[in-house]
Amino acid sequence: MSDLEERDRRHVWHPFTQMSDWMDSHPIVIERGEGNYLIDTEGNRYLDGISSMWVNLHGHDHPKIRGAIHAQLDRLAHSTLLGLASVPSIEVAERLVGLAPEGLTRCFFSDNGSTAMEVALKLAFQYWQQRGDPDSVRRTRFVALRGAYHGDTLGAVSVGGITSFHDAFRPLTFPVLRAENSYCYRCPYGLEHPSCELHCTESLEKILARHGDEVAAVLVEPVIQAPAGMIPFPEGWLSRARALCDDAGTLLITDEVATGFGRTGRIFACEHEGVTPDLMALAKGMTAGFLPLAATLVSEEIFDAFLGPVQAGRQFFHGHSYSGNALACAATLANLEVFDEERVLERVARTSLHLGQRLAGLEALPCVGDVRRRGLMAGVELVRDRDTKAHFDPADRIAHLVCSAMRRRGVILRPLGDTVVVMPPLSVTEAEIDHLTGALAECIAEVTGT
Ligand SMILES: *Cc1c(COP(=O)(O)O)cnc(C)c1O
Repeated sequence: MSDLEERDRRHVWHPFTQMSDWMDSHPIVIERGEGNYLIDTEGNRYLDGISSMWVNLHGHDHPKIRGAIHAQLDRLAHSTLLGLASVPSIEVAERLVGLAPEGLTRCFFSDNGSTAMEVALKLAFQYWQQRGDPDSVRRTRFVALRGAYHGDTLGAVSVGGITSFHDAFRPLTFPVLRAENSYCYRCPYGLEHPSCELHCTESLEKILARHGDEVAAVLVEPVIQAPAGMIPFPEGWLSRARALCDDAGTLLITDEVATGFGRTGRIFACEHEGVTPDLMALAKGMTAGFLPLAATLVSEEIFDAFLGPVQAGRQFFHGHSYSGNALACAATLANLEVFDEERVLERVARTSLHLGQRLAGLEALPCVGDVRRRGLMAGVELVRDRDTKAHFDPADRIAHLVCSAMRRRGVILRPLGDTVVVMPPLSVTEAEIDHLTGALAECIAEVTGT
């Protein structure tokens, strides 16, 4: 065992990790990044098949982003946004507003996806409290979906709908109204899209019919619920949700933390259905995976409700030490330039189709139940029996075993339940996709013995 491995075991507590298991294992210690590869202290190279937890977009050493961070570092690493403005944060806010769906005009900075969502929740809540009409103060509740994931801070956990992550903390959280998501592979109504006519949206419709005037906002991860296990919404779901919010006179918050910045083939996933949310949370890909930075974009109408004399106390009492960090903002600006200069979305259109074709090849394997994809976000759900869709015993940790086998073939992947997640950087090549999917077919066959 290497010295670093030993020191990691002694002191580093890893996120979402059973540390007894970890301490019995041989962790890979990453030392360098090169393009779409991570390189460990022993010189082994791994294709970064999950973009370092969905953040990396253009590879680990992109010269433009490195250069922008270096150049910013020569001027200033960080100054606060409390009481001061800063050059790169102004530019980022302006760029994001320019790219976002029309109507989102204000940018509140924070530093990760959870805080971007906390900010969205608190803004929506305070907005109704100060809007000025007597009925609106009753809008204090949130509607979130089954399978929702919005982060790990307590507000985000309150709206979270993943039993294994969130239930332990229920006593600490506020209650929410829980609407159905759409899990087409295991549709609880036994229907199929499009003949189902989005029957699953009735749950949201009923909640809003009953509680509509108490609802501050509805939260949706547009187009795909990634942390729930890469569960896409059928086409039309998001625009239906928008229409239902409009009918109920409530706000729509979209969590684009996973889907934003090109992942689904558009800069923001909302664009697929021409939907403008009232609030939108951004993080993960914002700096192309180089530094932590997040933003909550909001409409002018929401912003206006916070205006008034200082003494009135209507300001948004929220902020973080590193809000709008200058180095991270420089990375974001360079990230957006890379999208333009390298025509990233055009390339993603091709590579994501290629990924789709290669993953379709996995459907022949007896333990592959469902292959799901939106752009370069994909999941392969493993099942014990394809006809009955019977799950593996969770104790088998089947997808975890597949991901461990993938490491031996030089690819880093990470499962969500029994779903193997495939989310390579947007810079992934077709040859890398071939290697990844080829190895995945072998590993699934090896691990499931089929
Ligand atoms: C990752 C993620 C978050 C939380 O972001 P962090 O930066 O990990 O706090 C929130 N929502 C979605 C959809 C995510 O994928």
